[in-house]
Amino acid sequence: MQQERIELIRPQMGTARTLTVRRYGKSGTGPKAYLQAALHADELPGVIALHHLEKLLKVAEENGDIKGEIVIVPFANPIGFTQYVDMKPLGRFDMRTGQNFNRHYPDLCKELIASVDGKLGQDGDANVEIARVELRRLIKEHRANAGPLTDLDDLRLTLAGLAIDADYVLDLHCDWQAALHIYTSDSSWPDVQDLSAQIGAEACLIAEESGANPFDETFSRPWVELRRVYGDKFPIPMATLSTTIELRGEQDVYDHLASQDAKNLFAFLQRRDVIAGDPGPLPEAKCTATPLAGVDRVTATHGGMIVFSVDAGQHVKAGQELGYVLDCETGEKTPFASRTDGFMYARVGGRLVVPGGLLCSVAGADVLPGREGLLLTAR
Ligand SMILES: [Zn+2]
Repeated sequence: MQQERIELIRPQMGTARTLTVRRYGKSGTGPKAYLQAALHADELPGVIALHHLEKLLKVAEENGDIKGEIVIVPFANPIGFTQYVDMKPLGRFDMRTGQNFNRHYPDLCKELIASVDGKLGQDGDANVEIARVELRRLIKEHRANAGPLTDLDDLRLTLAGLAIDADYVLDLHCDWQAALHIYTSDSSWPDVQDLSAQIGAEACLIAEESGANPFDETFSRPWVELRRVYGDKFPIPMATLSTTIELRGEQDVYDHLASQDAKNLFAFLQRRDVIAGDPGPLPEAKCTATPLAGVDRVTATHGGMIVFSVDAGQHVKAGQELGYVLDCETGEKTPFASRTDGFMYARVGGRLVVPGGLLCSVAGADVLPGREGLLLTAR
C-alpha cells in the first residue's frame, strides 16, 4: 500500500488541508477501481466500510492477489469535516458557497466528443484508451483554464482526477434513514446487476443524467455521450461502471454492517478481476432497476412535525398513509402518501418540517409525471 497526502489549496493564512489517498496494487497491470467515502462529510457508514475493506486489501496485497489497481480515498471531504453549527456536523453543503459537495463536477463530454473526432477505430479496447488519454488531459486542462481555484474547486478537480480513468468508481454515501440503495446510469444497467446483488441493494435507481453533475456522472456520462455520437460507427463500451452507493442511514455506523459491506465490495472486486480469488456464488438480487424519475419525493404541504407510521425499507401502496404532519398551533393534521406503489427506501432524519420540505422517497416502477430536471432534489 502506498499512502499519499495531497495538499489542497490553503483557504486562508495559517490553515492547511490534505486529502489522504491509499493505493493497492499497481497502475496499468489490470482493471482500476476507485472507492471513496464521506464526500458528504458527515456520512460515515462508507468510512467504516472502507476501514474494514482496507484490512482485507492489505492481506490481499501481501498475498499478491491484487491484479489491478485499487485507489481508496477513505474520507473525501476535508473541507466538510470541519464544518459545525451549533455542535452539529454539516457535511452536505459547503458553508461558504452553499453548494452541495456532490454536485458541479466537471462536465467533459462536449470537449471529449470533439477531441476524439477522427481518432476512433474498430477496436473497442483501443477506443477506450484513446478516450481515457483525452479525459486525463481534459481534467488537467480544466484545472489550468479555470482561473483562480477555490479550495472547493480544488477538492472537486483533485477527486475527479484520481477517478477519471478508473474502470469502477464506487462513491459511498448514506441517506438519513434508509435501506441500502444505489444510483447509476441507465446505460450501466444490467452491468451493475452483480454489484447490486452482491451488496444487497434494495433499490437501484437509474438515470442517464440526474442534474447538476454529481460525482458519479463525471465518469459515466462521457461514455454515454461518446456512444450516442459515435456508437453507430465505432464499438465503444460503457468503460466505467460508476455508482453512488447509499449505505443505509447516517446512524448505521456499526462494525457488523461495515464488515459485511467490506466483504461484499471485496467479492465484487474479485468477480471483476481486480482481485484474484473466488468471490463465491452471487447472492440473489433483492431488487431490479427502477427509474430515478419514478421516485416520488413526498413533501409536506405545511409546516409542523412529522409523525411517521412506516419505517424506511418497506414496500408501500399508492395512497397508503405513511405518516402525518401535525401543526400543534392550528391543530392541522395532514396525512401524507406516495403517488406510486413502490419501495420507501428513505425518509428524512429530522422531525421538524417546513412547507414543501421532503418527508420520504418511494421508488416506483414507472416514470412519474413532472419528474424531470433535477432528479436528486424534491422540487
Ligand atoms: Zn451523500
